[in-house]
Amino acid sequence: MTASTVDLTRRAAGAILGSAVADAVGAPYEFGPARPHLTLAGTAADMVGSHTWEPGEWTDDTAMAVPILRAAADGLDLAGTEAQDRVVRDWRDWARDAKDVGIQTSEVFRGMRGDDAAAARDSALAVHESKGRSAGNGSVMRTGPVGLAYLGEADGVARVVAAARGIAALTHWEADARDGAALWSVLIHLAVRDGRVRLDDALAAVGEEAGARWGALLAEADGADPDSFDANGWVVHAVQAAYAAICAAGIALDDPATHTAEAFLRVVEECVRIHNDTDTVAAIAGALAGALCGVEAIPAGWRELVHGHLGLGAEELVALAEAAVRGGEAA
Ligand SMILES: [Mg+2]
Repeated sequence: MTASTVDLTRRAAGAILGSAVADAVGAPYEFGPARPHLTLAGTAADMVGSHTWEPGEWTDDTAMAVPILRAAADGLDLAGTEAQDRVVRDWRDWARDAKDVGIQTSEVFRGMRGDDAAAARDSALAVHESKGRSAGNGSVMRTGPVGLAYLGEADGVARVVAAARGIAALTHWEADARDGAALWSVLIHLAVRDGRVRLDDALAAVGEEAGARWGALLAEADGADPDSFDANGWVVHAVQAAYAAICAAGIALDDPATHTAEAFLRVVEECVRIHNDTDTVAAIAGALAGALCGVEAIPAGWRELVHGHLGLGAEELVALAEAAVRGGEAA
């Protein structure tokens, strides 16, 4: 591997594992009150578990990211039918005996007539139309792997946008859910590719209208208390809370000197202190923070304990991330 490939893979692995460990640390606090004084040690002791979750066990956020990661690791085009059909089938296999499936995602799966991506998309549209909204945070919580696709390609950023919007729409039809997933995926893609991100580049990639909207939303979050975004089950507040946590931890996207192990720990700490959808905000923030800080920033104690469905752990996630970077080519 060349030096730059080493950097790509350590940041790609950071995105995937960063999201998974943050999800697992946050899991026991989901739907709880704010915990402004909670501190993390950066050891296995932070993964306390609950009556639902074993210590270190990840939740739906990571469980739904894994099929996307697997498709990318097998070299499938994430914007294509083959990849999306497989992702939908893997999600539904998981959902059959999962401990938790998001409300909106469950409704979409229940309403499907057929088992492929087209059936999921039709059902997502029907759910959206029956409620007039469908912008839960579920499209962004699982989008990290999309940022790992198309890394070597000249039009990689545009392809990430298209794939992220398409995968979001499998369950979350509303524009905010699709645009939020596109923006977060591009941020991760640029972080992995370059080791730093100019926010304006990411905003430009999602188009003028969405870029202006999300630029204003992120500007509002920069410097704000992550817990001030009340409705963090909504994609907009979830992304704002995650971005606020990254900023509060001292990370500047464009300044690699701020991309440290200490900052990564603080991002997760900021997330687990907030109320309500703690694990999902943590999973969202952990993906971008992990991409920026790299896999070596993730505490060893977390890495050892993190695990989830299909018997996967950190080692398997890192191997899949590396394969995704190679676009499915053999090592
Ligand atoms: Mg969750």
